[in-house]
Amino acid sequence: MRDADVEGRRALVRVDFNVPLADRDGARVVTDDTRIRSALPTIELLAERGAAEVLVSHLGRPKGVRVPELSMAPIAERLGELLGREVRLAPGVVGPEVEAAAAALGAGELLLLENSRYEAGETSNDPELAAGLARLADVYVDDAFGAAHRAHATTEGVAHLLPGYAGLLLENEVRALTAVRDHPERPLCVVLGGAKVTDKVGVIDAFLERADSVLIGGAMCFAFFAHQGIPTGNSLLEDEGVRLAGEVLERAADSDCELMMPVDLVWGREFDAATEVRHVDGTGVAEGWMGLDVGPHTVDAYRERIAAAGTVFWNGPMGAFELEPFETGTRGVAEAVAEAAAFTVVGGGDSAAAMAQFGLADKVDWLSTGGGASLELMEGRRLPGVEALQGA
Ligand code: ADP
Ligand code: MG
Repeated sequence: MRDADVEGRRALVRVDFNVPLADRDGARVVTDDTRIRSALPTIELLAERGAAEVLVSHLGRPKGVRVPELSMAPIAERLGELLGREVRLAPGVVGPEVEAAAAALGAGELLLLENSRYEAGETSNDPELAAGLARLADVYVDDAFGAAHRAHATTEGVAHLLPGYAGLLLENEVRALTAVRDHPERPLCVVLGGAKVTDKVGVIDAFLERADSVLIGGAMCFAFFAHQGIPTGNSLLEDEGVRLAGEVLERAADSDCELMMPVDLVWGREFDAATEVRHVDGTGVAEGWMGLDVGPHTVDAYRERIAAAGTVFWNGPMGAFELEPFETGTRGVAEAVAEAAAFTVVGGGDSAAAMAQFGLADKVDWLSTGGGASLELMEGRRLPGVEALQGA
């Protein structure tokens, strides 16, 4: 985008404004504007260069229907506040009225289209919708890294119809994540947690080949323990995960990468902050209990690996960090990552939320805005949103 000549031209800018909303005092408001702020450098740079901007994003899953709760109106308002300028809201995504609104924009002016998923053609990557979008602008700028793993009309289809450029956020995301994947400073330490091994098995596999150590936490560890015949009580466990965990263990045995598992746990009776809690050495979980966090010995071992690393990639909390009695493991890892001398990258919506909850979000080198997209990039899969720009 730095090389794009946009003076006096209209840019269709794909952003990721898929932010959480809530009803407060009868008004629909944005409750976390991180993703909106992340797009500001691109929006400001285009405006400074004399472009008129037509912004587009999806929001939630309205599935081709105009669901009023998923209108972009509160986002236009929040963006206007952040920029200190008016952001107009288009009456739809494409069509004559939207084209007229786009045509009326002067240099530096902004129009936000309605939720792209109001159109069924968005997720099916319908060529007609892509053509309708292309009629709104002269150039296309993609800054929606969080949606780059989807081949949709606003992320992929339209990129083939207009001169395409990477926005600053998308460029920085790809740069940081690719650096970790392809030329990490060694040792490369990867910390993976979260709820489901089925979500993360691709990344574990990819890193067994590239990383020096992979540290496992979160509910995911119970798939590994179950496969080893260790009792897991009522811990969160997927049948499919147990089979996959077995395959991962086999591959790990043949790799030079060290796969580390928790050695102690924090149990709870229920997924509730007020539940009875027990700190237990070892990995078995008794009947009537669930493992909801990793224990202090695990944190110490993981902290040591993280401190000695040249590069750290972390995705997925170590436990149910939303509940105060079970946040300690995630906090310990978050602090270790924040203190590490290594190049540190954190990806995943809940991991980023954890860094923010502990006040450590600005203590990492790169906090990725793309959960699924960052994992797919790490797995070595092609991101349609990025590929389409490269072909454009
Ligand atoms: P990310 O968004 O960072 O990729 P995930 O979505 O994979 O992370 O996982 C986050 C969720 O995993 C959190 O809601 C957290 O409560 C849950 N979780 C982590 N450990 C456990 C556990 N031991 N038992 C139940 N839930 C857990
Ligand atoms: Mg998540």
